[in-house]
Amino acid sequence: MTTLAPGAACALPEVPEAPPEELRERAWAARRALGTRLVVLGHHYQKHEVIEFADITGDSFLLARRGAEATHADLVLFLGVYFMAEAADVLRAPHQTVVLPDLGAGCHLAECADIFTVRDAWSQLTDAFPGRRIVPLTYMNSGADLKAFVGEHGGAVCTSGNAERAFRWAMDQGDMVFFFPDEHLGRNTAARMGMDPWSPVVWDARRAVLGGADPDRLAAERIVLWKGFCNVHTTFTVRQIDEARERHPGVVVIAHPECPRPVVEAADEDGSTEYIIRRVRELPAGSAVAIGTDWNLVDRLRIQNPDKTVFCLNEHICPCITMNRITLPKLTWALESLAAGEVPNVVRVDEDMARWARLALDRMLALPG
Ligand code: SF4
Repeated sequence: MTTLAPGAACALPEVPEAPPEELRERAWAARRALGTRLVVLGHHYQKHEVIEFADITGDSFLLARRGAEATHADLVLFLGVYFMAEAADVLRAPHQTVVLPDLGAGCHLAECADIFTVRDAWSQLTDAFPGRRIVPLTYMNSGADLKAFVGEHGGAVCTSGNAERAFRWAMDQGDMVFFFPDEHLGRNTAARMGMDPWSPVVWDARRAVLGGADPDRLAAERIVLWKGFCNVHTTFTVRQIDEARERHPGVVVIAHPECPRPVVEAADEDGSTEYIIRRVRELPAGSAVAIGTDWNLVDRLRIQNPDKTVFCLNEHICPCITMNRITLPKLTWALESLAAGEVPNVVRVDEDMARWARLALDRMLALPG
């Protein structure tokens, strides 16, 4: 199971109370004192007040890899959520330690699937279809225990950027793909593969028998999708797209594939956070771009692209509350603790689990195409 380092399990941030400018100076002083011993990784959805401290910004998988490559650093501070810090720990170099400023920074989507209900679903599926080869696939947004589960059962991890390749690979490997925890990414990937996005069967873990799925449909379909969702990306609607087009004729609408299928269908384009960032940069000056993803990233793109009108599809969106748990006061506390020689909030994945999770990540890296 996933564990926290001894002595660090219950470390609650002693959040300093001071005006933001003072905190910023203190945080930078501690950061400078740590020098190259420390690498700070920042996910694109992090708040502006902390992202400026990131040595590397990116999506979760890129950050985990880049943290491991920064072998000059023995400390890896992750500005992101828990599953990301776990992935960084799975891939880290042996001498590195991964720290998360707030251990309560979870992810709604990742928490839609847990190892117990996934194991139960797996047993039911394999019992119901004994002759079929079922390949489990998990989204990067999942716990290390689920990554280990798929590694142990011949499956792989995927990101929003390579989900289509992962699904094609899994379909070549077996008769059925069991994907968790994001139903919407699964549907949007089925559509990318030219399939009817509504044909995959949904597994609802709240239903005791076969996830509430019809056994005949299960027998006939090749993709089973876990009923899970991101509570940020499912706030986007087709109506918001219609309104954006009314207000900004010619607007380019880009949705993240964690959005519901009708939204992705109505958008002009869809893609991962890295894709969205690249596309906004590429669009000609004067373009209007409406984006369906977390507000912090969209607002940063707006600031970085002053020659374009960049806005969030949902103007009233609440930014991802778990990502926003990493605040300047907590970061200051973590940096000052590290500079004082204490290592708080260590995220550590059990070695056996990490080995299987690494295998699942390695299979993703080896995906054909
Ligand atoms: S935006 Fe959604 S998927 Fe990303 S961390 Fe927040 S809840 Fe999880």
